[in-house]
Amino acid sequence: MFDENEFEKDFEIDEETHRKLALEAGAISYKALQKAKDMIKPGVKLLDVAVSLESFVTESGFDIAFPANISINEQAAHYTPSFEDVKTFGENDIIKVDFGAGKHGVLADCAITIDLSGNNQKLADASYDALQNAISTVKAGAKVRDIGKEIERTAAKYGFKPIKNLGGHGVGIHDLHSSPFIPNYDNGDDTELEEGAYIAIEPFLTTQQGKGMVINGDIVEIYAFSQPSGVRQSASRAMLEAIQSRYMSEPFALRWLSDIPKNKFELYLSIRELMRAGAVEPFPVLVEGGNGMVAQSEAEVLVTKDGCEIITK
Ligand code: MN
Ligand code: MN
Repeated sequence: MFDENEFEKDFEIDEETHRKLALEAGAISYKALQKAKDMIKPGVKLLDVAVSLESFVTESGFDIAFPANISINEQAAHYTPSFEDVKTFGENDIIKVDFGAGKHGVLADCAITIDLSGNNQKLADASYDALQNAISTVKAGAKVRDIGKEIERTAAKYGFKPIKNLGGHGVGIHDLHSSPFIPNYDNGDDTELEEGAYIAIEPFLTTQQGKGMVINGDIVEIYAFSQPSGVRQSASRAMLEAIQSRYMSEPFALRWLSDIPKNKFELYLSIRELMRAGAVEPFPVLVEGGNGMVAQSEAEVLVTKDGCEIITK
């Protein structure tokens, strides 16, 4: 999805360097999630947490693989705070923090769920347990449907259900979502994991009142560069130039571009023009179809002959 990488096309990476960079980026990403765990309390601003996690990654000498996703309650993924976002955590919120660092296009991807009231702790625990059980089935030759089956089995044991149209994925160089797709249920896909592959596993679970499917919400704060395109407004042109020089290969948050337009109004007007022109691809917030509460746990692993090595630890 994000493989149109122009400037590092010739960057060849050997296996050992790949693993070393992945482990480094994975460790920073995992630390960022621990930081989120410490920071997130009722009344704290989402924006402060997002900025803090992203600054931690860049100040550690890494790139941001994708904006800090902080999705609450029935939101499953893709919420990142807007420019000057004033939203704060509520005392009953169940929060998914999904984030990753990168270097030379080697990307880490991991997520945790924090339940502030304890009312949804069982849901959060179930997604964590589903992830651990799924990881224990990983090895070269394992079928992706069997990973999904294990996630579904664990969810059912707790009385929950998986979200079927979300799942894990391979992680390529400058390519956050590459093949294979790792389902959160037995989808009948006999694709086998290959030794040396980097994969992210991410059980998303919801309650019985949830549909087990996500739909696109109205909010869009995350985008990715798609293709050069002619746009009429000079403000939109300036924004596209900034996007092309800064975020050619990885997704970006609209608030990262708040230094370009004159005001907030122009920020949204320009991105809308770029979206209409096909210059950028939007990633809308994904919302549970039955408004069920959602929990997610994610880790990235390196597939080995007999098992796997956890990258985000
Ligand atoms: Mn993720
Ligand atoms: Mn992922």
